[in-house]
Amino acid sequence: DAFVVKVAKAKPLNAFLVETPDHALAAARAADAARAAGETLKPLAGVPIGMKDLFCTNGVATTAASHILEGFVPTYESTISQKLWDAGAGMLGKLNMDQFAMGSSNETSAFGNVISPWRRPGSDAPLAPGGSSGGSSSAVAAGLCPGATGTDTGGSIRQPAAFTGISGIKPTYGRCSRWGTIAFASSLDQAGPMARDVRDCAILLEAMAGFDAKDATSLQLDVPRWEQGLSGNLAGKRVGIPKEYRVDGMPEEIEALWQAGIDWLRDAGAEIVEVSLPHTKYALPAYYIIAPAEASSNLARYDGVRYGLRELPANESGGGAGLQDMYAATRAAGFGPEVKRRIMIGTYVLSAGFYDAYYTQAQKVRALIARDFERAFEQCDVLLTPTAPSAAFALGEKSADPIAMYLNDVFTVPSSLAGLPAMSVPGGLDKQGLPLGLQIIGKPLDEQGVLNAGLAIE
Ligand code: GLN
Repeated sequence: DAFVVKVAKAKPLNAFLVETPDHALAAARAADAARAAGETLKPLAGVPIGMKDLFCTNGVATTAASHILEGFVPTYESTISQKLWDAGAGMLGKLNMDQFAMGSSNETSAFGNVISPWRRPGSDAPLAPGGSSGGSSSAVAAGLCPGATGTDTGGSIRQPAAFTGISGIKPTYGRCSRWGTIAFASSLDQAGPMARDVRDCAILLEAMAGFDAKDATSLQLDVPRWEQGLSGNLAGKRVGIPKEYRVDGMPEEIEALWQAGIDWLRDAGAEIVEVSLPHTKYALPAYYIIAPAEASSNLARYDGVRYGLRELPANESGGGAGLQDMYAATRAAGFGPEVKRRIMIGTYVLSAGFYDAYYTQAQKVRALIARDFERAFEQCDVLLTPTAPSAAFALGEKSADPIAMYLNDVFTVPSSLAGLPAMSVPGGLDKQGLPLGLQIIGKPLDEQGVLNAGLAIE
């Protein structure tokens, strides 16, 4: 009940789109009953989880924070949410997010932005909770739930975690099933947990990960016991510092944060080596071609016929409109400006005359970026970088300038393109007292190495 009260008090954060206290209470009661009966408790017995609204939840409205999916109530459960319920967790509600997970500040939601629980000292100006998993970061940072799900296509778990002083991990592509998760860019999308600390992330990820025959890209591997394997001792480990991440104009405090991270990992026993990822500067442009291309294809299904919203304009003679008119009117009314921008970019780079110049080229760059990481990992076990080039910005500060917003993803996008596990952990506060995040990037399937380095920083 305390959680229900907390969620109600935190209404101004706008983190929850739907509240499902009964679901959370049922899990808590089941945990109590198991405890009373002397049964072994499930790993997440009674834990109330916030679900990003990208995960389809049986009988609970799921909109991806869009108008076009308003009124859509799935009749099935996503694999990720089902796995969490199977582990004993309950759902506190569906969390606000950037519309279709497109954004870095949660301002593209059709249901209003989320507000970070953090403030600059002496200022009431609301700050962005990061995005696209901004409802998740805000809810966990405000203590509304001990953990939340996020999804990360180009940084949407890590950057909001960094902005709000919490931890979040994107596992290796294929660890978490995408079945029942609304698709943005299918070759990049990965679910992962966001929580207060590294250990909670490890516990949640163990419950979420695992093979799923319903997702063709799901990895047929056992789920390691990450929590049991946690160790903050990095003796014998090498930590790579990619020199290309020292981008021009990086604020001094981000440099200082990075240096502090290097010192902490050295104190934990690691050897620090400089490595090179030469194609880093092409990652952001390649991502903003590949992700919109896949999005334009994935979002073609929202046509007013199968899901949610349907707009039926009258034709000139006042009769019923044609099918194309219905599609157009539905999409015009149902998609927000950022989603429309992505669809237009995506269809452009996939169109006959431009495919080779943009899409094929971006795929080649993607391969080069993956190869950069392979080479770097011949010299080290994990990489350490800042998560984002700044602390949380004010709401509205970047919303008029999509490029400025995209630049925020500069450190998170390369590892997404390479499908690598990557995590953000709190690295301290900036001069104004706002949280900053450090990112650890690991070799394919080495979530353990990533979590251990995260623990050493924490
Ligand atoms: N900010 C990036 C984008 O807008 C990443 C989003 C995400 O990871 N879902 O595409």
